Amino acid sequence: MLDLSRRDVIVGAALAAAFGINSRLAIVAPALAQPAPGPGMGFHRYTVGSVDVTALYDGIWRKPHDPAFIRNASIEDTKAALAAAGMTTDYVPIPLTVVVLKVGDNLIMIDSGSGVGQWQSTAVSLPANMKAAGIDPAAIGTILISHFHPDHIFGLMERGANAPIYPNAELVVSAPEYRWWTEPGRVEKLPDERKPLGARIQAVFPTWKNFTLVDGEKEVAAGVRLVNAPGHTPGHSAFLVSSGNEQLMISNDTAYVPALLAPHPEWQGTYDQDGPLAAETRRKLIDRVIADRIAICGAHFPFPGAGTFSKDGSGYAFTPVQA
Ligand SMILES: [Zn+2]
Repeated sequence: MLDLSRRDVIVGAALAAAFGINSRLAIVAPALAQPAPGPGMGFHRYTVGSVDVTALYDGIWRKPHDPAFIRNASIEDTKAALAAAGMTTDYVPIPLTVVVLKVGDNLIMIDSGSGVGQWQSTAVSLPANMKAAGIDPAAIGTILISHFHPDHIFGLMERGANAPIYPNAELVVSAPEYRWWTEPGRVEKLPDERKPLGARIQAVFPTWKNFTLVDGEKEVAAGVRLVNAPGHTPGHSAFLVSSGNEQLMISNDTAYVPALLAPHPEWQGTYDQDGPLAAETRRKLIDRVIADRIAICGAHFPFPGAGTFSKDGSGYAFTPVQA
């Protein structure tokens, strides 16, 4: 059982400021942090030092319960974790948020969203919310890609034709991720449900000339460093934004649904390709943001997708921020 009252005590604007989150954001208790779409959920801005962060809501997958979803937990375990976080137990809520950084004059997007219904029919909102936030897609100069799952890359490609939506942006991805998915013979080795994804990647990405492949943990844009976070996929990456004395860890899918994986970091999802490595990476990354007292955001965290972690027994407690 989570101790909501203790977490209520630690929330506050001063703490938010200490963690590098714009103090104008209010931190709400998890019970109020429902990720279902609602008014005002289109986009949200906060700052990390001098970097403007815009969180853009793409939509939500209301994932039906499935005994295979978490390899080492039952549907009942999953429902109990959702209920403890104050969320619906009717389905697993998997919202999707895309982050755009403004560093100086440069616009840097992290992942591309899910391509207007190409992943789920209920995730179609990124273009409209980008427009509402005043961001011109043609002005995005760099796209940092965490991994090659559909909800993170289908927004790079037009439906059907696969034409590039951002032909002039530099596409940055870890070399291990790119090489794994594009290796000759890969499609045949994938499980059946992943074969269409692998085939699409192999048909499209090698024909694009705007990929930059990164080996190791390098600075990939001004003040933004790639952090190796393998397990979810072989080359899955997080990105650490630093400005002044503030930092934000963009964790992508390292701890995708905190309601489940904060209290149970050892759970291995069916989408964690290497389950034990994904769990090890998750603990390492969360321990790091706790030790460094920095904010973290994730693609599937409750909108606007940012928050902080603290230790809680053998797991963690996640405190989201919400507009
Ligand atoms: Zn994802």
